[in-house]
Amino acid sequence: MEIALLRNEPINIEAERRHLEDEGYSWTEVKSQLESTYREYSKKEIFRCSCCNSPTFLVLNEDRSSYFRHKNNTECAGTRNYKRYVEHTNRFENAKHKTGKIVMIDQLKANLTPHGASVIAGYMLKQDLKFVPDCIIIWPDNEIYSFDYITGTKSKAYQTYLINKMQAYNEHGIKSYFLFDNDLRTIHGNTLAVSHAEKASLTLHERDKEWEEILTDLVTRYGHDAVLQNMNLELADLNVNRIMYVSENFDGTLYKICLIKSAPYYNREIPDQWYFILGKPKGIAFQSMFSFEREVRKFHWELPNIEPEELTSFTAKMELWINEQSQPEEQEAFTVDQTAHSEKLQENTWIKHLNHFKQTTETTKITTSPDTSERIEYYKLVMNRMKESPYYSPEFQKRMTECEEDIQRWELNGIVEDRLVGAIRMMEIPLKLNMKV
Ligand SMILES: [Zn+2]
Repeated sequence: MEIALLRNEPINIEAERRHLEDEGYSWTEVKSQLESTYREYSKKEIFRCSCCNSPTFLVLNEDRSSYFRHKNNTECAGTRNYKRYVEHTNRFENAKHKTGKIVMIDQLKANLTPHGASVIAGYMLKQDLKFVPDCIIIWPDNEIYSFDYITGTKSKAYQTYLINKMQAYNEHGIKSYFLFDNDLRTIHGNTLAVSHAEKASLTLHERDKEWEEILTDLVTRYGHDAVLQNMNLELADLNVNRIMYVSENFDGTLYKICLIKSAPYYNREIPDQWYFILGKPKGIAFQSMFSFEREVRKFHWELPNIEPEELTSFTAKMELWINEQSQPEEQEAFTVDQTAHSEKLQENTWIKHLNHFKQTTETTKITTSPDTSERIEYYKLVMNRMKESPYYSPEFQKRMTECEEDIQRWELNGIVEDRLVGAIRMMEIPLKLNMKV
């Protein structure tokens, strides 16, 4: 194992070796430093196995990991776990994994130990594990979390291994987190293609319920194709999953993603590994990657989070897209290019867009009419609800001031500003309100 206890203090020999190498020492220098610090303890049989407490000895390797071995190469659950772990990480993970894993475990320790959790390397668990995580977190009530940093190739063998690993964790009631290296991320336009293992990991994380409600609302208002900005694709369902990609320094990017499929008039299916990226990916610095909210048992990035800016720009993009699709010149070009599909297209999407566009134009250009006062009353209700809601952020406060100005202006000249309509729509979404007047 890479870790042994020296007077109950864990010594991670591989981490120390890497640390020295990072400082620019040659292998000979690293070896002589580690020898002079630890060799005598090793000879005196002072190092103890952190799993079974028997004496262990220092082994320094230039081309492989350095580690501690038991006397006469005997084994305990810890050493067996360690062997399995090393076999798989050496086989599948790349060089980044070793450094990244150390950063991850350090950060988890720093963030979770104050909450009473014990954070250990996965192979240190005192029972045999078929699949060994990079890191295990044991909470005082015996709840267990696992963390794995995935840098490996997309080879079939590895994919199968990872999927089996996820299943095993799940069966053992372990709450598991898989963080994928940035190199594995494949983005095409506003979509993300995931490997089978990345896909399997989605079921381990809680879905983003808040964004699911927003998405449902957006699909109802604008249609699948406006949401996706693509006529050839559809959302396969309205589930919003989350996936985290990280650098080896554990700066993360969190994506909200939804499974997509071909539109019904397309005969050819796409692999069910394509996901639409909903809204804006969220950058998460390594300092906050592992910050934990003990009361709700969630990492900070797992908490519901609707940013008004993000929502506004997302809605604006959709409206722009619908307007672009409704330009008469483009309609002509479109019919010429796509004659084969045109009939079905018209049934499925085109008419819907035009109708939708008509509707939006009508709603946004309201001037004084008998029901306008009723509409403004409704707007005021939305604004009051927003002020009392947890979503009332500084961004919404800004919008609120604008709405109040617009309503004053309406009282003077009877014209409802587009800005007011847009801002109200933005508030309706998190509040789950819909105008029925
Ligand atoms: Zn042992």
